[in-house]
Amino acid sequence: ARAEAVGSATGPGRTKDGHPVPLLANVGGPADIEPALRNGAEGVGLFRSEYLFLDEAVPPSEEQQIAAYRAVLEAFPRVVVRVLDAGADKPLSFLPPAAVEPNPALGERGLRLLRRHPEVLKGQLKALARAAEGLPADRLRVMAPMVTDAEEARVFTRACRDVGIQQAGIMIEVPAAAVRAHDIAEEVDFFSLGTNDLAQYVFAVDRQVSSLTRLQNPWRPALLDLMAHAARAATEAGKGCGVCGEAAADPVMACVLAGLGVTSLSMSSPSLPLVRAALAAHTYAECQEAARAARAARTAGDARAAARAALPALE
Ligand code: PEP
Ligand code: MG
Repeated sequence: ARAEAVGSATGPGRTKDGHPVPLLANVGGPADIEPALRNGAEGVGLFRSEYLFLDEAVPPSEEQQIAAYRAVLEAFPRVVVRVLDAGADKPLSFLPPAAVEPNPALGERGLRLLRRHPEVLKGQLKALARAAEGLPADRLRVMAPMVTDAEEARVFTRACRDVGIQQAGIMIEVPAAAVRAHDIAEEVDFFSLGTNDLAQYVFAVDRQVSSLTRLQNPWRPALLDLMAHAARAATEAGKGCGVCGEAAADPVMACVLAGLGVTSLSMSSPSLPLVRAALAAHTYAECQEAARAARAARTAGDARAAARAALPALE
């Protein structure tokens, strides 16, 4: 109701003065298509493919994968599929780490596990390429989780190109990748900032320890600085830089992210209308000023207050 009062409950994401910020959905499988469409998602910015196979004991067959990918690819004009992000909070029994690990979040997970099991990565990329056959060439974009440096990014892009996938990107969720985003930008077609894990790793706060949730605050200026740095590296390389972590669902943060130069925002579907309304109520210059003011603050609380003050239509 509040979104309607401000306007733009549907339609493409953009600021008051027309700067486009495509609004995309985070999905875990075909069941999430309908709510995404209902909330006006312009595409999918994060398809967590590991969610499809959490209960499987053996790797999914190519046909099983193609059916799930195809359903999502047919529903939206652009879809970013993340290859299996197994390990830590999302273990898959067919993708085990080499040993029991004392700190799984710092262990074999994401791309690290897929490099231990290269046949699984190859099988998934092939299934994705086949699922996209006959669809417009820019519809499928594929990204890797837990990439740390340009060497890993290069390996992943090559694996995508080998099966004919033209858009290969990475999640920026390891601080080293954000710090050296300019290196990585030369190896990939796009970035997606994963604020959940980037916060976990840059603050040294385990995201699974609920007593520490307060310390996961994405407004801490260190995280804002890292995101600004990565977004700038992407812009300078002429590449897109989206955000797909939970932080994008906060309308104030969404405006700040737009102001930092982020090129799309992806979130769980119910959050889309309020974010769309917040962007539509502010100019791009106001978003840039909110980002500047937030980064000039010293604490998370001050950063959010400063951004809010720069975004008058949110009061
Ligand atoms: C993230 O880390 O911010 C992210 C979007 O991925 P996940 O929450 O699935 O780790
Ligand atoms: Mg993550």
